[in-house]
Amino acid sequence: MVNAVLPLCRLLNEFADILLDDACAACGNLRQGGESQSCYCLRCEQQLTPIPRHRCQRCSAECGPWSAIDRDCVHCRGRRLRFSSTVSLGTYAGLLRREILAAKWSWSSARIQCLGQLLAAHSHDSISEWNPTLIVPIPQHWRKRLTRHFNPAERIAAELARRHRVRLDLHLLSRSRASRPQKRVAMTKRFENQQNSFQLRASEDVRGQRILLVDDVLTTGATCAAAAQILLGAGAQDCNVAVLGRVTDGTG
Ligand SMILES: [Zn+2]
Ligand SMILES: [Zn+2]
Repeated sequence: MVNAVLPLCRLLNEFADILLDDACAACGNLRQGGESQSCYCLRCEQQLTPIPRHRCQRCSAECGPWSAIDRDCVHCRGRRLRFSSTVSLGTYAGLLRREILAAKWSWSSARIQCLGQLLAAHSHDSISEWNPTLIVPIPQHWRKRLTRHFNPAERIAAELARRHRVRLDLHLLSRSRASRPQKRVAMTKRFENQQNSFQLRASEDVRGQRILLVDDVLTTGATCAAAAQILLGAGAQDCNVAVLGRVTDGTG
C-alpha cells in the first residue's frame, strides 16, 4: 500500500509544480511577463510584502511610530531571546497568514518554496549585512512529522542558502526530548517548555560561526531563543533569525 501511495504523492507534487509555473501561487491568476521574477502576481506580492513599517530589530514585531526599535520593543522586552536580530516578510495576518497556512498543509512543497524565495529577495540587505556563515532550520517537533509532509523551515532555509550562497546544515540541531508542541502551551510557559529541547549533533562545526536560524513564524521567540542558546553556548559568534511571519498579540 505504501509503495502505491508514494509514487502518487510524487505525481501530485509534480502536477502542483507545473500548475504553479505560470499562475500566481496565491490567487491563481496568470502572471504577466514582467512578473516572472517571483511566484506571485504583482498585486499579491505587494500584499505579502507590505512596505516596511516601524519594526523591532530584535523580534521584527510591528511597533508604534514613536517606539524605540533599535533594542527590545514592547513585544520582546524582558524576554531572553539570545539572538540579535530578526527579519520577516511581515506581520502574520491577512494574505501572508493564509499563504503560510496553505503552504504548510500542502502536499507539495512548491508553495513554501515560493514564500522562501520571496523572503530571500526581501531580506537580502539585512542578511547580507549579518553575513552568516551557516544557515540552520529549526527542526520539526516529532508529533508534526506524523502529520506534515515536510518541514517548512527546511524548505525556507534552502531558498535562503541558495540565494545567499551560504552553507546549509539540516541536521545540526535535533529535538532532544518530547517537549510539547508550542501551540499547545500557554504563552507564559513557552520559554520554560523549550528549555533544553534541542541537541547539537556536532559542536565543533559551530565555533566562530555566524548563524542564521530559520523558522516559518516567530511568536514568543522561545523556540529560536532555545536554539540560539545552545549554539552560542557551543561557541557560535552570533545568531540572527529569519521567518516568514511575525505573530504578535491578536494576529495569531
Ligand atoms: Zn496573485
Ligand atoms: Zn521586539
